[in-house]
Amino acid sequence: MPIASIDTVRVSISFDSFDEQVVQISVRATDCASVRNSPLHSTEGYFLRLRRIYAVSIPGSPHLPTIAPFPRIKSWRSLALTSLFTETLIAKFSYYVWTNVRSRAMFTCCAVGLATMGFVSGVDARQASQAAASPHLAAKATHASNAQLADPKIEARVDRLLRQMTLEEKIGQLVQYNDTGDSPTAQIAEAKPAADKAGVIVAINPVTANHLDSMQLAATGRLGSMLNTIGAARTNTYQHLAVEKSRLHIPLLFGADVIHGYRTIYPIPLGLAASWDPGLVVDLAHMSAEEATTAGVRWFYSPMVDISRDPRWGRTAEGAGEDPYLGAAMARSYIRGYQGDDLSQPGRVAASVKHYAAYGAAEAGREYNTTDMSEIVLRQVYLPPYKAAVEAGAATMMSAFNSLNGVPASANPFLLDKVLRGEWGFNGFVVSDYTAIMELLNHGIALDPATATRKAITAGVDVDMMSHFYDTQLPELIRTGKVPMSVVDEAVRRVLRVKFATGLFEHPYTEGAEITSAVAAHRPLVRNAAEESFVLLENNKQPDGAPLLPLSPERKKVALIGPLADSTAEMVGAWGGAGRDPDIITIRQALAERARNTGGTLLYAKGTEIETTSQAGFAEAVKAAQDADVAVLALGESNTMSGEAGSRAFLDLPGNQEQLLEEIAATGKPVVLLVFSGRPLVLDWAAKHVSAILEVWFPGTEAGNAIADILSGDVSPSGKLPMSFPRAVGQEPLYYNQFPTGRPATGIDLSQPPGGDSRFFSRYIDVPNSALFPFGFGLSYSSFSYHDIKVSKSSIPLSQALANRNAPLLEATATVTNTGSRAATEVIQCYLRNMGASIEQPVRSLKGFERVTLAPGESKQVSFRLGFNELSFISILNSPTMEATHYTVWIGGSSLADLKARFEVLYPTQESDPH
Ligand code: BGC
Repeated sequence: MPIASIDTVRVSISFDSFDEQVVQISVRATDCASVRNSPLHSTEGYFLRLRRIYAVSIPGSPHLPTIAPFPRIKSWRSLALTSLFTETLIAKFSYYVWTNVRSRAMFTCCAVGLATMGFVSGVDARQASQAAASPHLAAKATHASNAQLADPKIEARVDRLLRQMTLEEKIGQLVQYNDTGDSPTAQIAEAKPAADKAGVIVAINPVTANHLDSMQLAATGRLGSMLNTIGAARTNTYQHLAVEKSRLHIPLLFGADVIHGYRTIYPIPLGLAASWDPGLVVDLAHMSAEEATTAGVRWFYSPMVDISRDPRWGRTAEGAGEDPYLGAAMARSYIRGYQGDDLSQPGRVAASVKHYAAYGAAEAGREYNTTDMSEIVLRQVYLPPYKAAVEAGAATMMSAFNSLNGVPASANPFLLDKVLRGEWGFNGFVVSDYTAIMELLNHGIALDPATATRKAITAGVDVDMMSHFYDTQLPELIRTGKVPMSVVDEAVRRVLRVKFATGLFEHPYTEGAEITSAVAAHRPLVRNAAEESFVLLENNKQPDGAPLLPLSPERKKVALIGPLADSTAEMVGAWGGAGRDPDIITIRQALAERARNTGGTLLYAKGTEIETTSQAGFAEAVKAAQDADVAVLALGESNTMSGEAGSRAFLDLPGNQEQLLEEIAATGKPVVLLVFSGRPLVLDWAAKHVSAILEVWFPGTEAGNAIADILSGDVSPSGKLPMSFPRAVGQEPLYYNQFPTGRPATGIDLSQPPGGDSRFFSRYIDVPNSALFPFGFGLSYSSFSYHDIKVSKSSIPLSQALANRNAPLLEATATVTNTGSRAATEVIQCYLRNMGASIEQPVRSLKGFERVTLAPGESKQVSFRLGFNELSFISILNSPTMEATHYTVWIGGSSLADLKARFEVLYPTQESDPH
């Protein structure tokens, strides 16, 4: 008996691993009247019915043709109703098969199976069989992520060029090297070819190791792009070879790690995220693109949008922290700032979003380590920023070093083919991370370079950065048919699309004045960015009743102490672009100038080095503090302690800096601690003993001036933490949007060791669960109060929520008042919790934020629109959905906001009174 008349049946295939594929069949029915009136109306009923029909009936069905390879079904994977709304019923289910995905017979059987169960008419069954026969088509997205790359005129130019290209020229477009000088054969003669090394393959430079000559490659069309080859003269030299000497005159694309500024450096991305100011990020990104294009760079390996919940991972510094909503907002801004509306415009660069995907979840925070997580967590937490960047039109992506659930990201069809291209419609190209294709050998999924190459390119990695594998392996792989020519053509097509879109064919060379130092006109913007990035963590009242910061003009003598107080090199943090030390303003320079202008005195003592055990400088530092009215300590990490290969197992102030801090605090002088770091540090001692703590990350070119602006009170701090600061490293990974536990330690004093009935809870026996400074937290020189929270609807019908996924469903509103005595900026945050869903949901999740500047006493009502995007969650079927559940919404100044309201989403039978 059919349960409804079936409209369409689609069969799609995805590759979840190398040996198993998931077949997903969606049945769409347009007349669900009979369903609505039957016991199948509930999810559970439908679930059971499907299970009975398919699990029992298909394998043993007498209707199945004898070719059916059903014994090869491994297991049922998931079976559930994804959504049931007024007009349409969608059932999806999937299962593992052992067989080759191209087994047409298998998919025909699925369709026939559907038909025999009465779900599908004969015609539908035929449609299903046809869809099954071309699985890749069925899985491809129908939309393109970047309209410019989808331009038919560009496609026509690509077609014309592709037709003229030899195999060697095609492969050339997929090869990327850097510049090793004009005479590579003379260099590093002793270096072994990378692929010849026994045992572990190391990431040496294959250009030098294999005695390649980048210039010769460029001149013969065997090089498509170059990395970190910068400067107008250098890039033009290569470009002339490519454009004038090579047969087809295809220009090179020059990519570089311009991460937080080219010459004029702004805060590291983690610091920038603390500004919660997406508009500022657009301006900065645009500024850096304008600077770098004068040096021939047309492609940035940025933004890094990897979510990081574990500050042991050094690359935490390069991203926007732990939250997918904030991360997605930042990702969009970088793309907008780099690319604008038109990649061919002067001062625009193509972005490379990295590192796709989930690199930030490296186990134990150890660099290049494996990541393993459920697809639900992947889609709900880690993928949103990459998706946001793709939706914003990112022209390229970089595939990551890490493996995800056992499959290296640089040979991962699930990530690259199914999700990136199939679901998100990405139409740019994918470049591997540095030697990531070579590293497939170390991952153990390839025994030789040929297999690594085949796996990478067929998974969807178009460009080989530095592995020296595509150029050496692809010719033979094509000749033997192991890699279809169409795969290479498609990869070349994607590269050429970007080259045409960036206008390189029309303007291959760099013209005009090259920017070779920080730009004076850009200094105000980067200074403002640094100020917005600083987070005031502590600011305790002094005996006179006023908080220590801003420093009172009475405190005329300032002792500036610490290894970061007068350092230019350390102000930029990891990936300092082409920033130059002489351009950087240190804190000492800035405070000395202020002292001169105000008649104050600046005492300076380095005190110690960043990493040392020597206390030789302690006495001088203590003396300076004793002689001063206040001590300002500039402590923290060096540039190289975060960023790539900067994982740390301890998160304290390095070396003996904490000891120095303790000695200065022991003088009894008030202490301001400036923390320089590329990650959250453990600041437990300082939080208890130091009056004021300002997290300044790595602020960039205008470091000193921006810090002086905050210390003096010219500017009030407004930054909020994009990552939780732990009390102890053992709490990591520590993040605010954690899942609930069955034994929450609510109402228990976790500062005390457990005893009696306070033990069997989700807790530590030696440290509280909470962050020392939570996500979203940051003080100001003013204060803010929140009141009058309301939601525009107390209930929403589920059918309405599911029917239009782009329309707002309700608004949450609250009023914020500046209760202090000076104008200041507050970042107002909106959090949600969803209770009662089929999958447990985080204890709260950020769903909106807004920066608001208020005069003293001024109030403002702030509204957050909430729609499907904010209210949905990832279902057991790995797609976003909503159910009839209860929501709590909080609006406030951090993830601990306590002002809340509630609303509900109602089942169809409850929908009569939606308001
Ligand atoms: C890093 C990337 C970077 C690339 C090129 C790699 O080691 O992981 O983030 O873009 O090098 O420099």
